[in-house]
Amino acid sequence: MSKRILIVGGGSSGWMSAAYLEAALNGGNTKRVEVSLLESPDVPRIGVGEATIPSINHILAALKIDEREFMRRTEGTFKQAIKFVNWLDNKGEGYYHAFGRYTPTPVDDSGERWLMSDRSIPFMETISAQPRLCEWNVAPQMIGAWDFGPKLTYAFHMNALSFADYLAEIAAARGVTHYVDHMTDVEMHENGDIAAVLTKGGKRLEADLFIDCTGFSALLIEKQLQEPWVDFSKWLLCDRALVMPVPYETHYPGFVRPYTVSTALSAGWAWDIPLQSRRGVGYVHSSEFISEEQAEREIRAYEGPHAEKLDTRMVHFKVGMRERCWVKNCVAIGLSGGFLEPLESTGLYLSDLATVMLSEHFPHFGNSDALAFRFNRLMSNRFYEVLDFINMHYCLTRRNDTPFWQEVQKSERINDRLAAKLEFWRSKPVGHADFEDQLLPNQPYADTSSSKAFGDTRSPIDTGKLFTRSSYEAVLYGMDFMRDEYRERFGTDLPQTGIHRRIVERLNAAPQKLPPHDLWLQRCVGMQKY
Ligand SMILES: Cc1cc2nc3c(=O)[nH]c(=O)nc-3n(C[C@H](O)[C@H](O)[C@H](O)COP(=O)(O)OP(=O)(O)OC[C@H]3O[C@@H](n4cnc5c(N)ncnc54)[C@H](O)[C@@H]3O)c2cc1C
Repeated sequence: MSKRILIVGGGSSGWMSAAYLEAALNGGNTKRVEVSLLESPDVPRIGVGEATIPSINHILAALKIDEREFMRRTEGTFKQAIKFVNWLDNKGEGYYHAFGRYTPTPVDDSGERWLMSDRSIPFMETISAQPRLCEWNVAPQMIGAWDFGPKLTYAFHMNALSFADYLAEIAAARGVTHYVDHMTDVEMHENGDIAAVLTKGGKRLEADLFIDCTGFSALLIEKQLQEPWVDFSKWLLCDRALVMPVPYETHYPGFVRPYTVSTALSAGWAWDIPLQSRRGVGYVHSSEFISEEQAEREIRAYEGPHAEKLDTRMVHFKVGMRERCWVKNCVAIGLSGGFLEPLESTGLYLSDLATVMLSEHFPHFGNSDALAFRFNRLMSNRFYEVLDFINMHYCLTRRNDTPFWQEVQKSERINDRLAAKLEFWRSKPVGHADFEDQLLPNQPYADTSSSKAFGDTRSPIDTGKLFTRSSYEAVLYGMDFMRDEYRERFGTDLPQTGIHRRIVERLNAAPQKLPPHDLWLQRCVGMQKY
């Protein structure tokens, strides 16, 4: 008999779970699960979450979604990188965390070479063509068939609401049952499992497995099962975002950037995400360091005079994760399971990962304790991995111009694992071995045999290949890591920084091959001309 899965919540995470579980678990000839989704007509989706990382390509492939069709349906644009502006000194400087880079063989000593140079060219530009391609605003795809050597790695920007609608359509077409009704109550079995949810419309929906996708309200995992939240706000200070879409009718800059810009402001940072009809702009900030009115003034000033009349909306969020995302017969996916601020666009990735992990650990046979244990371990590892990486963007700053930037570099704002990593990388450049096993000197270590997922004291494992050596190099060297130490040790007369030959060749050939991003969007996915 097939197992019944009820997903409560119809935001991006709810529909991603519905579509993926249906495809992954009912892929063969046997119907192993029946998937239903309950979505409230009264509670809107959060409506943010518009930048992705390349893992999005996995879900598109798994659901057999054509890339261009996806872009047409979601106002999609390409994303090749994130550009971080003013994070180091607030003097207009910037660096790229690009998705693709060249890896020289047999020895990749590009990081060491850069450290031992005069740093006259930013690290990422020496090893990846993408920073320049981004500055030129070209697409990472050709209008015709691709004949430009190795593919460029990219993700997408997209309209979050359209993405959820599109997934809903796909899921429904594949057999997911959709209820539009508001959950009002939960019935429990004696053993502590959820038995059914009750709705305003008078329905009683039973299932074997419940997936909590109710966003920050976490109606099942927290309100019903009372699973604690592990708070990360000591290390990530931002707790609000002021969202301000900029329609192209109001202001079209004359191009569509193929990358996200993240500009550090006085008490946080602004995202700048180009879609086909607007740019999504939002100021992620800490309510302790700036008032709502000041934040609004600052984001309008960032955008320029045309922003005076634009609407804004405040989104409150909390950073952290569920101690265990899978408890009894309930699995929290999406914001109910955890959220780290959107600096590296990891929200949708974590929902995608949870769905993939759940399908791999699906409880087809009776007791699910062992499966839940592994699922919780894997998910908490990824949350910690993201925490360390985002924490690092802040703490390496040299900015001292506002109380917020003074605060984020204090040692108590750097979590112990990250502090141990940074300390280790003071004795050797970051390398692949550091990600094979991450018990580095001075790191917190705890017995991992407890039945719960692990708090901040357990030994960390960054082996998920999410933020690897290349990502760490991009940010560490983008933030001018160890500049003074190298100068002191090796002098200031270091050789000029060189760009790898393969990158120069690729950049020389690119103008004949890669079209402007906006032109590609107009020709290939029907973007309107502005
Ligand atoms: C400021 C900010 C910026 C972000 N930017 C990014 C980004 O750039 N990239 C990225 O990957 N992620 C980003 N995220 C994360 C991303 O928005 C979320 O991961 C994603 O939208 C998933 O949300 P969700 O589906 O979990 O919750 P929601 O969208 O909040 O959906 C909750 C659902 O639960 C339903 N519901 C609630 N109560 C009931 C009830 N009683 N009965 C029935 N249904 C109910 C609602 O109707 C809704 O359908 C960002 C998040 C924030 C806060």
